[in-house]
Amino acid sequence: MNEQARKYVEDFMNRLIARNPGEQEFHQAVREVAESLAPHIVTSPVLQQMKVLDRIAEPERVVIFRVPWLNDRGEIEINRGYRVQMNSAIGPYKGGIRFHPSVNLSILKFLAFEQTFKNALTTLPMGGAKGGSDFNPKGKSDNEVMKFCQSFMTELQRHIGQDTDVPAGDIGVGGREIGYLYGQYKRLRDEFTGTLTGKGRDWGGSPLRPEATGYGACYFAEEMLAARGEKFAGKRVCISGSGNVAQYACEKATQLGARVVTLSDSSGFIHDPEGIDTAKLAYVMELKNIFRGRIREYADRYPSATYYPNARPWSIPCDIALPCATQNELNGAEAQALVDNGCRCIVEGANMPSTPDAIRVFRQHRLLFAPGKAANAGGVATSGLEMCQNSMRLQWTPEEVDQRLHAIMRNIHAVCVHYGTRADGSVDYVAGANIAGFMKVANAMLAQGCV
Ligand code: NDP
Repeated sequence: MNEQARKYVEDFMNRLIARNPGEQEFHQAVREVAESLAPHIVTSPVLQQMKVLDRIAEPERVVIFRVPWLNDRGEIEINRGYRVQMNSAIGPYKGGIRFHPSVNLSILKFLAFEQTFKNALTTLPMGGAKGGSDFNPKGKSDNEVMKFCQSFMTELQRHIGQDTDVPAGDIGVGGREIGYLYGQYKRLRDEFTGTLTGKGRDWGGSPLRPEATGYGACYFAEEMLAARGEKFAGKRVCISGSGNVAQYACEKATQLGARVVTLSDSSGFIHDPEGIDTAKLAYVMELKNIFRGRIREYADRYPSATYYPNARPWSIPCDIALPCATQNELNGAEAQALVDNGCRCIVEGANMPSTPDAIRVFRQHRLLFAPGKAANAGGVATSGLEMCQNSMRLQWTPEEVDQRLHAIMRNIHAVCVHYGTRADGSVDYVAGANIAGFMKVANAMLAQGCV
């Protein structure tokens, strides 16, 4: 980056931090994008005059609301609900809902900001948004989760709609929660429309939506490896998380001939050197999705595995790492350990799982590194396909959806290569994804004037 671009980033970030004090995750996400874009923005008077990046970093609307509900003991509990509607330049707002005690405005703004670029990369007409609550579904009964979801939707329904804003799942919001949220939406609005995605297959959901994020991340990895003349088959893979994204990343990696050796949750990780095959993964899915158990139970069931409490899986030797749990779950020291142990490819299934220090290490060593906004875009892309099927009142076959998902991931890889190829021929996927996503949104914003 030249001096002019560096100064642009520092001035821009100083303004952003002053306007959004204390929002560290938001600052981190915006800085990464600003650093990629600065060399282009400083050579474009129109992007500067029209303050396109300043406007992209300012949410179009933020709604914050009280969510009161009754627990099973008949006591009142109060949580805080949010919806950040970041950008609608290329389509209705679109982005998931997260239920986790760590949820705050900074985290949702970073996620909504990232979502804007990710959605643009899918080529589908979707703007960026994110929402959620500090509600913790862990340890709650189904009845409590339902009451919370109904109260949350009672307010949220005023702000969403199939042509306005279409939420989906994220951490803590899976099929069960989408069902309760959609039920309440339909009851209050008296309409059966595609206002939420991630619905059940029998009531408007798309085939393959649950699988799409994990599968898409593996398709992206396949493309990166193929560009270097390599394949997934025979590789050892470390995955973090054991939720939706991790489960289906594990399934697809195994189908492609790799051996997945780790999974984790927020309490620790398991290492199974023999590999987490189809039967073992079926056990994990039942354990996590039905019994809502902990990953440590895997090691009780399978003696080939060891459980490491309060630890993350990045010390385990592997060829490919797929962080699929949460933001900032892979730091600089862990990135170095991955490199030292022979890892050559990191594909982010989660949003912003690698810290800036970790990304520096990956870049220094010219590793294949795919940022979440490109690699995990398969989830929202398939949500876009769900919207499409809902509008047509049709349902495609799983094969048809898989084909489209695969084509979208190939296309995202191609645009990243187009915008991110360095002088030495290697690809900076971070810059590629940021520039490609930005160009599409920026062009729409320029066409639509000062709004
Ligand atoms: P789930 O709730 O299904 O699973 C989340 C997993 O991450 C769980 O194993 C959870 O463990 C673990 N986890 C959560 N917080 C932490 C933490 N602080 N430290 C360590 N582990 C943690 O969520 P998803 O699989 O849907 O989402 C995972 C990531 O992928 C998120 O970053 C999400 O934004 C991103 N993503 C998801 C998409 C989707 O389609 N679902 C689409 C694109 C991105 P525990 O059970 O202990 O909480």
